[in-house]
Amino acid sequence: KLHNTIQELKGNIRVFCRVRPLLSGENSSEEAKTISYPTSLEALGRGIDLLQNGQSHCFTFDKVFVPSASQEDVFVEISQLVQSALDGYKVCIFAYGQTGSGKTYTMMGRPGNPDEKGLIPRCLEQIFQTRQSLRSQGWKYELQVSMLEIYNETIRDLLSTNKEAVRADNGVSPQKYAIKHDASGNTHVVELTVVDVRSSKQVSFLLDHAARNRSVGKTAMNEQSSRSHFVFTLKISGFNESTEQQVQGVLNLIDLAGSERLSKSGSTGDRLKETQAINKSLSSLGDVIFALAKKEDHVPFRNSKLTYLLQPCLGGDSKTLMFVNITPEPSSTGESLCSLRFAARVN
Ligand code: ADP
Ligand code: MG
Repeated sequence: KLHNTIQELKGNIRVFCRVRPLLSGENSSEEAKTISYPTSLEALGRGIDLLQNGQSHCFTFDKVFVPSASQEDVFVEISQLVQSALDGYKVCIFAYGQTGSGKTYTMMGRPGNPDEKGLIPRCLEQIFQTRQSLRSQGWKYELQVSMLEIYNETIRDLLSTNKEAVRADNGVSPQKYAIKHDASGNTHVVELTVVDVRSSKQVSFLLDHAARNRSVGKTAMNEQSSRSHFVFTLKISGFNESTEQQVQGVLNLIDLAGSERLSKSGSTGDRLKETQAINKSLSSLGDVIFALAKKEDHVPFRNSKLTYLLQPCLGGDSKTLMFVNITPEPSSTGESLCSLRFAARVN
């Protein structure tokens, strides 16, 4: 490991809260103001107060991004983690929150607007730039990308060119991808497509490809993506030709399934199965991060596909950042409170 980062002083798990702006058409009346930010010095930029039925709930995180925070403002706060991945650390960045709270906006951004690019394209740009500038010091980096989706505890390869392997709703059962842990403690998804990448342009092409593989059945598109976890993985292998130093870092960016609780009575059949799978994997993720934060001996990695897949990148000296995305809509206060409580538990 080449550099020490500030993370080491503070432990390896961080939580950032991001509140998205109200969208046009959403209730913006003053009375409806349910979210406020403490101005006391110790909570400045870190505190958030949520008002529900006249009761105030206060939370403190490592950072709170107010609705006016730009994509660049957010990226600035995570670019250190990108550097860590280049330095040989394993990094996971999650976006957690109900559907519509801004997870995909945070990770991917708004298509077609460069100012609103999300974390994934910005991370890649930083990595390619750094790779270029370290060349003069003898560093050569190889970068490999894979993208998968976990839906109902089943992995789908989003970079597969074989449609049958990704589609589940066309009567063809999707290929089963097994997760294997090797002797050196790395995970490996059997037969998952892994692509060597040379430019951020190429990565955006792959992201488009993945998005197309996700959007099975046009009408179900939004639905589908909010019911599955999206995992973007970049493996970084660096080698210095003059010093013969070697680094192996991993950067995982994860857009989680929507955390909203569906009313039990309302969901039946496939929908109920989906809900149970999502609840199980999100609560397993919470349990794992909580156990790691508390330095417990037993960390229940095996309780879900997501945590089993990411096991080598969680814990040890790896670095984890969780975004908890919330919406300022008064009608979502209940869900926001659930999300903040979830995040507070792992913080
Ligand atoms: P999620 O992925 O959590 O379901 P989205 O990222 O799709 O939510 O966001 C829902 C809507 O809100 C989208 O139209 C998105 O463009 C918009 N949005 C989310 N966050 C922001 C933000 N910080 N600034 C502007 N618009 C946002
Ligand atoms: Mg989304």
